Order: sequence, then C-alpha cells, then structure tokens
Amino acid sequence: MKNNDVKKILIIEDHRDMLVILNRFLEEEGFIVIGAETAESGLRKFRKENPDIILLDLMLPGMSGLEALKIIRDETSDNTYIPVLIITAKSGIEDIINGLGLGADDYLVKPFNLDELKARINTALRIKNLNDALYHKTGELEEANKQINLLNQRLLEKNQELRRNIFNLNSLFEISIELSSILELDRLVNSILLTLVGQFSCNSAIFMLSSKHNPEIIEVINSKGFHQKELKGFIIPKTDPLIDALRQNPAPKLLESLDLQLKNKSNALKKMKEMGLEIVTPVSVQNTIEGLISIGKRVSKRSFDKVEWEHLSILSNIISIAVSNASMYNEIKQLSYTDGMTGLHNFRYFSLRLNEEVIRHKRMKTALSLLILDVDNFKNYNDTLGHPAGDEVLRKIAQILKQTARENDIVARYGGEEFAIILPGTDRNGAKVVAERIRETIEKTYFIHEEIQPQGKVTISIGVASMPKNAKSAEELTLKADAALYYAKRHGRNQVKMYSDDVPMDDLQ
Ligand code: GH3
Ligand code: MG
Ligand code: MG
Repeated sequence: MKNNDVKKILIIEDHRDMLVILNRFLEEEGFIVIGAETAESGLRKFRKENPDIILLDLMLPGMSGLEALKIIRDETSDNTYIPVLIITAKSGIEDIINGLGLGADDYLVKPFNLDELKARINTALRIKNLNDALYHKTGELEEANKQINLLNQRLLEKNQELRRNIFNLNSLFEISIELSSILELDRLVNSILLTLVGQFSCNSAIFMLSSKHNPEIIEVINSKGFHQKELKGFIIPKTDPLIDALRQNPAPKLLESLDLQLKNKSNALKKMKEMGLEIVTPVSVQNTIEGLISIGKRVSKRSFDKVEWEHLSILSNIISIAVSNASMYNEIKQLSYTDGMTGLHNFRYFSLRLNEEVIRHKRMKTALSLLILDVDNFKNYNDTLGHPAGDEVLRKIAQILKQTARENDIVARYGGEEFAIILPGTDRNGAKVVAERIRETIEKTYFIHEEIQPQGKVTISIGVASMPKNAKSAEELTLKADAALYYAKRHGRNQVKMYSDDVPMDDLQ
C-alpha cells in the first residue's frame, strides 16, 4: 500500500474503551488512527495532523461535539474537505439533525456494528475523493478558462492586425491603380510624394530622376517638406557609391545602415542625412536605376515595423513601374510630335501649341506672332539635284531655325518644304526682326550646289502675322501669315512680308 493511500482518521470520543476498540479495529483496517478524548484536544489534533476523516462523538465533557463540528467546518475550506461522521446515543436524534445541519456528512447511532462503521467510513472517503477530484478539476477548468480567454484576446488582436493589413493592402492596391493611370511624369511624381508622405506620415520626401540634360547625374524633380533653397544645387552623380549600392540591392533602406555599409564614402548620403532624410529606395526604369525616392522622419517618430517595410517595398516597385510607363509614354508622345527627318516639332504639335499660345495671349494680353517660311524654287533644286539633296537642304534649314530661335519659340516643320515659327510674347516689330534675320542667315548660308537655283542660291520667303493686330483666332493668324507668304512669293521671293491690308486674302492657292 502506498503511503499516500494510507488514510488518517481522527476519533474524538471520551469513552476510552470505545476509543481502544475503534483504534484497534481501524488500524487493522489499514488506517492511521489518532485519538482524542475531548473536543479541545480533538481540535488541536485536527489542526496539527490534517486527518482525512473525523469520527466525532457528540456527547463530550467540556466543549460539546456540535461546537467542535462548527469550528471544524469553519476552518475547513472547499479544497481540503474533511468528512465528519458523528456518533451519538440512541436518544440524541435531535443532535443528529443539528449535526447534519452543521455540516456532518453521516451519523452512527451507538451501539453500532464495526462493519457498518467501516462501510460508512469508506463511503465518506469516496465522497471526499470525489470532492477533491472535483475541486482539482475545477482548478484545471479555471486555468483552462484563463488560457482560453488569453488565446481569445490574442485572436482578437491578430484579427485586428489582419484587418489593418488587409486595409493597407487594399489601399496599396488602390494606390497602384491610381499611380499607373497617371502618365504625365510631373503629375505622377507629385502624386507619388503625396502618397508616401500620407501613407507613412512622414514630414518630408524627395523624388530624384536622371537629368534630361546630363544623364550622368540624378536631380530633384519634386519634393515635399523642403524649401526651394534647401534643395538648390543638390544633385547625385551616378558614380556615387549610393547608386551602386541601390543597384546591387534594389530595396528600401535606412540611410543610417547604408552609410555604415558604405563606410561614409557617399557624399550623397551625407547630404541627405543633413537634410533629415531617413529612408531611400531606388526608382528603376527598365531594370536600371534611374532615380531614387527618399523620405524623412515620421511625424510620430515611430520607426517602421515589419509590415510597413513590406508595404514600402511593394510601393517602391509600383512606383518604378508607374515611372517606367510614364517615361515610355512621354517618349512615345515625344515621337508622335516630332518630325523624323528634321527633328523639329511636327504639324500636330504646332497646331496644339498654337492654340495654347492663342489662349495664353488672350488671357495674358501679351503679343503673339507667327512666321511661315517656304523654300524658294525648291522644286527646281529637287528636280536638278535629286530628292536626297533636297532633304539635306531641309535638314540644314531646320538646324539654322533651331539655332536662331529663342527657347520659348516653337519651331515646326509645317509641311513639305515649309516651316512655321510661333513667337510667344513677340509683337509685329519684334517678329519682323526675327524673320529678317532668318531670311538673311539662309541667304548667306552655303548649300551644296545652290548655284543651280534661279538666283544662284537657296533662299526662303517668310510671311508674318501678329496678334492682336492681324487676327482674333489661331486659324485667322495662320491664314494671314500664309497670305503674307504668298504675297512675298508673288513679289519676287527671298523676302519677308508682314501681313497688312495690302495683302489680298484671296491670293491663297
Ligand atoms: P516656290 O518658290 O513658289 O515655293 O517654288 P517651289 O518650287 O518651292 O514650290 P512648289 O510648291 O512648286 O514645290 C515644292 C517642292 O518641294 C515640291 C517637292 O519637290 C519639294 N518637297 C516638298 N517636300 C519635300 C521633302 O520632304 N523633301 C524634298 N527633298 N523635297 C520636298
Ligand atoms: Mg511650298
Ligand atoms: Mg517653295
């Protein structure tokens, strides 16, 4: 028999003979028996010995059994339930009722049969075992319940995080659609910067791209949170180690860690850190680094968590694709507005710009002039020297026109051997000077075999019309310049004709 299976029984009985009999019997039955002859000593032993079951005589000298029972019940809690069997004489039926009321588990009436006693004790012990097991299980259940609550809490948190994530992914998706629909590069860049600043709550951001004028450097295209003067002159040569590092690992990075990696060798990084920028990510167009985006401190000062890095990385790819598309679109647009042979703008572009300039002229009340040029006797040149030689002349004239024009002037190939120049902000007198200078330059320029021309050289005639004096619309301005050109042709060629009332409008062919 295992030690912990041996049950301790406390007998509180003032009749010594009875105590001896019970003691012997119960010891033989395998119990450890503790005897007490008074309620007081019984209570002491109860507290000290921690018995599994108590046999309690109700008729005791001094403190009564019922009082002792009350104390025992007060001192026992649910987790240390101790069954109490009361023993009383036949006459004590009232005591039995009181005893059961005070929490006794069972009773025996003297004289009792020892086997009956044994059976009652075993029943009481079985109930105690069940009670203990129940108590234990309740504890386990409470613990399990706690765990469930904890898991539930975590589940709720995860759920929230997941929902936030879905929300972010959703907004990333929407951003992706929005960005890919913007084909104007300037508008796209602006939108990208606003998106970054908004999504990550940053107080600054810059967007840099390969310079159109110098492909060896990248320059600031647009920024948020900076004064113009803070960015003045800020360029990054493509030889800066930063560009190479981004090429090797094209993903968002902390400037701080890149600086460590590059051992402070990047001037660009140094400058960007001074500007308060913290994260950089490359912009690739057709798999080559064409620029970068950098963002500054967050308003909350919080650093990026794992999910935010992932989002920034996705966003960075979306941006690269959108910029690639916009660049491609711009190239195509450029091509569709360019005359392949001369590299000048084509008639389509000319028409668009003329309309725009007329609108601007009306709004700003600035002058606007139009020159239309036509090569004199060009058919003769072509017929004599062949079409390719004629093309050469047209290319050379285009070159001269480009060089003569100012930056704001719009030079276009208007037709076969006709050119047009829009001069925004130039009035009739100014236009006359420009036209005369062009005519003279062409006259003085040597074109191969030009001596075969009727006048021994390649010349042009120019018709000029200006707004507001000559016309109210783009169409009228074009018609008037054309009319002036034909007037010049009819009056000897190699000359500039300013449109005036002496130019007949029905002279047009
Ligand atoms: P005018 O002084 O009256 O302008 O005489 P023109 O011979 O220049 O005028 P016309 O309109 O009779 O002839 C225009 C010629 O320009 C016809 C064509 O041979 C030539 N031409 C038009 N476009 C091109 C071109 O793209 N390349 C070449 N090589 N020649 C062209
Ligand atoms: Mg012509
Ligand atoms: Mg001609």
